Amino acid sequence: MASVLYLGGLGRSGTTLLERTLGELPGVVALGEVVHLWQRDVRDNERCGCGTPFADCDFWARVGAEAFDGWAGVDVARVLRLRAAVERTRHIPALARRRLGARRQADVLAYGAYYASVYRAAAAVTGARVVVDSSKHSALAHCLRWMRPGAIDLRVVHMVRDPRGVAHSWTRRVARPEAAGEEMTRYSPARSALLWSAHNAALGLLARRGVPLTLLRYEDFLADPAAAVGRIADFAGLPLRDGDLDFLEPDAVRVGVGHSAAGNPMRFALGRVALRGDEAWRTALPAGQRRLVTALSAPLLRRYGYPLRPAPVARQARHRADAPPAPRPAGDATGTGRGAAAAVRAGR
Ligand SMILES: [Zn+2]
Repeated sequence: MASVLYLGGLGRSGTTLLERTLGELPGVVALGEVVHLWQRDVRDNERCGCGTPFADCDFWARVGAEAFDGWAGVDVARVLRLRAAVERTRHIPALARRRLGARRQADVLAYGAYYASVYRAAAAVTGARVVVDSSKHSALAHCLRWMRPGAIDLRVVHMVRDPRGVAHSWTRRVARPEAAGEEMTRYSPARSALLWSAHNAALGLLARRGVPLTLLRYEDFLADPAAAVGRIADFAGLPLRDGDLDFLEPDAVRVGVGHSAAGNPMRFALGRVALRGDEAWRTALPAGQRRLVTALSAPLLRRYGYPLRPAPVARQARHRADAPPAPRPAGDATGTGRGAAAAVRAGR
């Protein structure tokens, strides 16, 4: 049975970049944010990561046929109803209890069964040993943990990023290329900090409920991607052989065509994608907002090893200033900046 690597974390923490990277490993199939598959893809036919509308993507057609005898067999309204009933952040305290009420349990299992079917089918049609779901939401992970062991072999990669960087990223305008005229949600720094604390605390709770979980700091992933990917492959039970990490460079990853169902624009990237953190927040996030975000996220900041007083210029950036300048697009390795768009253009 394939293991399911669930990438959890607040948005703008690098989960899409990690998902694309893991998708390059032999034996891994990366599905994008399956939580949005039902509405955005099955119902609204948005574009798959491969660039074609969902209904025309051969990969997803095969998954749908295997899982549900075709996507027409999925009652999307029912999935969304179940989702509204069980998979909300406010339901996490109930989901994290040692027992569920009978009604809630029935809904959680019915909802989780849709995901189990997608994971199983994706593994079956590709022969993959590891399925990656970058849905991020802590509430969904809390639902999936209730599935019996034979249904989903769930392992969570809990990805965190410095909340000041996350907050700055959430203030930026980002277009959604798959939906003309729409932009990704934006949050104020204070709201971002509160969400950061809530989501990360909720993900941490999974480990206390016995879910296999490993923490990965986005900054550590960027500093040594090969070490991070090797560690996660090991965590997923995926043995690596010589050459399996050849798609990784010290500061870039080469990605091929993927079929991420939903997620940020990084899912369309093709070719060489720089693994470089966006440190603009150190100077661009106003000092008052930086202090506010720090205060709101202080308890978990310490736990994850982030400084309460961040240096105005990252040590990594200073170090790299000695190296000859490489041509690079401006942007953010979380895939929401112009860097991702440039990578898409360059690769096509
Ligand atoms: Zn596709």
